[in-house]
Amino acid sequence: MLRVNLMDLDREGTIRIVREIEATDPLWEGVDLPLAGPVSVDLSVSATATGQVLARGSVEAKMRFECRRCLVEVVPELHEDLALVWAPRDEFPGEEEDEEQGEIRVLELGVGSLDMGPAVREELVLATPRFVVCREDCQGLCPRCGIDRNEESCDCTLEEPDPRWDALRALKED
Ligand SMILES: [Zn+2]
Ligand SMILES: [Zn+2]
Repeated sequence: MLRVNLMDLDREGTIRIVREIEATDPLWEGVDLPLAGPVSVDLSVSATATGQVLARGSVEAKMRFECRRCLVEVVPELHEDLALVWAPRDEFPGEEEDEEQGEIRVLELGVGSLDMGPAVREELVLATPRFVVCREDCQGLCPRCGIDRNEESCDCTLEEPDPRWDALRALKED
């Protein structure tokens, strides 16, 4: 759980939250994250005089992909810096506010605690690549015979015969 008690936060000013969230945690349900282990969250949460809540820190996760070209397993470690802001609805900054602040989320009043889970999940989903390659110059699999061209070579011709050449050939034969 990534919940902060807002009364505690008011009293203490800053609360550090360090959590390991299992890959099987309900928080990750319904989103398509190829998690290969627990997700580490480290956030320093503070309350501002204007009633905003700020959380700065990072989220780290190991993910499991197949190389898009050769299908070998790739397990990259994802690290994303987080800077999350919640503001009470009536104190939403106007549009002239600094763009650098990024997205500001609504802080529901009178709830006593703030669940940062959905925001962290959203940031992690945004930071997750749609596909990866095992290395920049991966040669991939031969689309004809299926061998891994990083390891072996084959005699398959990859060029589809261009029908325009057939037309030329036909002319010559005439
Ligand atoms: Zn590859
Ligand atoms: Zn081949």
